[in-house]
Amino acid sequence: MKKILLAVSLLTSIHAFGQSSKLHKKAVVVDTHGDIMSDQIRSGIDVGKRQPGGNFDLVRAREGGLDVQVFSIWSDASGGFALANRQIDSLNALARRHADKLQLVKTASELESVVRSKRMAGMIGVEGGHMIESRIDYLEALAARGMTYMTLTWNNSTPWASSAYDETFKRDSLKHLGLTDLGKKIIKRMNELGVIVDLSHVGETTVNDVLKITTKPVMASHSSAYKFNAHQRNLKDEQIKGIARTGGVVFVNFYSGFLDSTYSGKQAKFIADHKAELAELTKKYSSRSKAQNEINEKYKQEIYYMRAPLELLIDHIDHMVKLVGSEHVGLGADYDGAESYPQHLDDVSNYPVITDALLKRGYAEKDIINILGANFVRLLKANKAVTSLRSQ
Ligand SMILES: [Zn+2]
Repeated sequence: MKKILLAVSLLTSIHAFGQSSKLHKKAVVVDTHGDIMSDQIRSGIDVGKRQPGGNFDLVRAREGGLDVQVFSIWSDASGGFALANRQIDSLNALARRHADKLQLVKTASELESVVRSKRMAGMIGVEGGHMIESRIDYLEALAARGMTYMTLTWNNSTPWASSAYDETFKRDSLKHLGLTDLGKKIIKRMNELGVIVDLSHVGETTVNDVLKITTKPVMASHSSAYKFNAHQRNLKDEQIKGIARTGGVVFVNFYSGFLDSTYSGKQAKFIADHKAELAELTKKYSSRSKAQNEINEKYKQEIYYMRAPLELLIDHIDHMVKLVGSEHVGLGADYDGAESYPQHLDDVSNYPVITDALLKRGYAEKDIINILGANFVRLLKANKAVTSLRSQ
């Protein structure tokens, strides 16, 4: 009897696995926020080959069934238009070197044809409105180069939009709160050009100002739910509902520090516990990164248990789906942008784990297909569509 039960349960799990991998292959899988370009430029690694570290390369992406990657073109407040262009040049060079695996696209129909050819479609997301240096002509120039979305602010505010960080920690010294008149002009021009307005990192006042005037669906390219962790980078329920009301989508961030309210405490304890050893090793090697690598290797079990549970990421997704429906939720991993991701999600090869977890939660196939990427394709089409602009 035991044997029969074992055989039955084995068959059920094989069947479930078959359903999961079939569904994952059928879906267009999209990640709307990957930070590999910063690393690639700094260290010159070849992401066309399997890399021992980091979260992204084109080999592991294929294994994970990742069809579309939006590459973040990012700098802190010190970088501007020239740096954005240099990063886009690098991305173009990368795509030329690996044309058998990656092609950059600008539209949904190009995306669909590249995905059909079994290669990855790459897109450009500019993270930080400061990179247009308050100039509409720079916005237009980046749009012409294929900028899919622009995150209005990074942690720093721009002269025309306040960021979540500044609205939370520097509110009293802000020159303006929300969008200025120039900010409103920039949103209008982004809507006309079909550049998706990205509200990740953006302050609550700015978010509300954008929601009042946008004529196209907006996004949050890498933001999780505030309900589970009251962090300024996470979105409150009202914000999630507001984004969904435009027809927009929230793409959930995988960073343990945003998902899990207990993470920062555990991380602080880890740093304190190993501070002396790290200082000693740094002295020995005259290299902090080498010392850090050794600490990470030595205490990898400890680090593993600090990572957010996979089920917590699924809770964030599930909360948003219950709030606004599966048409308004997606994945924006923020890989290579942080130091910790949920257990079982080491890198881009692990995307099937999410499909599996959603099936186990009882999600219907059509809802999973929406979350994995169909919502992004719809958002892209809606933004590129020429609509009669709201007269106001
Ligand atoms: Zn970011």
